[in-house]
Amino acid sequence: MAVIPLDEARSYVLDRCSPLPAVMVPIPEADGLVLRSAVAATEDVPPFDNTAMDGFAVRAMDTDGAPTELAVVGTLAAGVAPTTTIGAGQAMRIMTGAPMPPGADAVVMVERTAAMGDDRVRVDVTVEPGNHVRRAGDDLVAGDEVFGAGTSLTPAHLGVLASIGATEVEVGRRPRVGVVSTGDELVAPGAALGPGQIRDSNRVALLAALAELGVEPVDLGLIADDEDRIRDALTAGISSCDALCTSGGVSMGDFDYVKTALDDVADMRWMQVAIKPAKPFAFGVAGAVPVFGLPGNPVSSLVSFELFARPALRRMMGHRDLERLHVLAEAVDGLPRRSDGKTHFVRVALERDGRGFVARSAGGQGSHQMRAMADADGLAILRDGPGIEPGGSVTVMVLTRF
Ligand code: AMP
Ligand code: MG
Repeated sequence: MAVIPLDEARSYVLDRCSPLPAVMVPIPEADGLVLRSAVAATEDVPPFDNTAMDGFAVRAMDTDGAPTELAVVGTLAAGVAPTTTIGAGQAMRIMTGAPMPPGADAVVMVERTAAMGDDRVRVDVTVEPGNHVRRAGDDLVAGDEVFGAGTSLTPAHLGVLASIGATEVEVGRRPRVGVVSTGDELVAPGAALGPGQIRDSNRVALLAALAELGVEPVDLGLIADDEDRIRDALTAGISSCDALCTSGGVSMGDFDYVKTALDDVADMRWMQVAIKPAKPFAFGVAGAVPVFGLPGNPVSSLVSFELFARPALRRMMGHRDLERLHVLAEAVDGLPRRSDGKTHFVRVALERDGRGFVARSAGGQGSHQMRAMADADGLAILRDGPGIEPGGSVTVMVLTRF
C-alpha cells in the first residue's frame, strides 16, 4: 500500500463529511453548536438608560460648583421604575442597574459624596452629562444583526442571546458519534488482567475527546476480534449515530476481523499516512455515516482522532475553523529526529516565558506511551529532516487551553 501525504488523507476525509441538517435548539443546549441562520436583536440592550454605579442621579450642571450640597428626593433600586423627576438642586440615591430618573443626566459615584443627614448629600466632584450612565441600546440595538450564520456559539454568545430574549436558535444538529474498541487482548477497566491482556484505554479517551469537542459520545462497547460481532456492533452504530470511530485492527500486520467487518458495512479506504505516530488509518462512509478506522496504539488512536476525526466532525457541526490553534514556540532543548519521509508529531509541554511559548518534549514518544500524551500541551509538528536545533522555533498544535 502506497504511503500518502497527510494533506491527501485529510482532504479525502474532509471531502466526504458535510454539515448535518439544521434544527431549532433551546439556548441552554446550544453551547458549542453553530448558527445556521443569522440572529437579529428584537430588543435594545440595555432596554433603558440606567446607572453603571451606585451613587446619586443628578443634573450634571448642578455639580459645576463642587463641592456642593443637593437635596436627596428618594432612592431607586434596580428593577424599580422611577416616578420622581429630578429638578434643580436635587439628587436621587440610585443603585447599579436602576433606571435613570427623568430630569437626571449623570451619576455621581457614592465614593465621591458624603451624606449630610438623611435628605442631603455633599457632592465632591463635577460630572459631565452622561457620566456613569449606560444608554439604552449601547450594547445592541433592536433590528441589528447580532450574530451571522456560521457563528460558533460559546457561553458568551448564549449570554447575549438570553439578553435579547431569544429562547431557541437554528443550529447544526449536534452529531452523535459512536466509539467501538476492538481487540481480543483487551479487558475493561475494573476487570482482572489475564495473561497477555491489557486494558481498553482507548474507548474512554476517545469518548472524552468527543465530549470535549461538543458532540454527543455514544459508547458502543468493547468487542472481541470476531468478524460477526464487530459487524453487528458497526451496523447498530451506523443506524443510531452520525459518525463512528473504531479503535484497533487497521494496521498492515493485523488479522482481518476488523478490516473485513468494516469493508462489509462501509466503503473503506485503507491508508498508510506519512506521519508518526498514527501511520495506519482507514476511512469510509456507510450510507451517510463517516467511519473513522483509528489505529489501536493509544497515542496513535488519539493523534489520528486529532488529525482526521476532529476536523471532520467539526465540519459536520458546521464550524468554519476546523483546526486547533497553532502557535510558534522555542524548542529550547531542540527536538531532534531522523529523516524517514514522515511528518512527526512530537508530544510537547508548553510554558510561557516573557516573549512567548517554550516547548519541551513531554517524555517517551513511543505510540504506546500515553503518559507523555497526558503531560503534553500540544503536538510539535516536525517536517521530514533532522528536526529542530536547540533554540530553534517550531509550530505546535495546541491541545490544551491555558
Ligand atoms: P491494533 O491496532 O489492533 O493492531 O493494536 C495496536 C496496539 O494497540 C496493540 O498493542 C494493542 O494491544 C493496542 N490496543 C489496541 N486497542 C487498544 C485499546 N482499546 N486500548 C489500549 N490499547 C489498545
Ligand atoms: Mg487489535
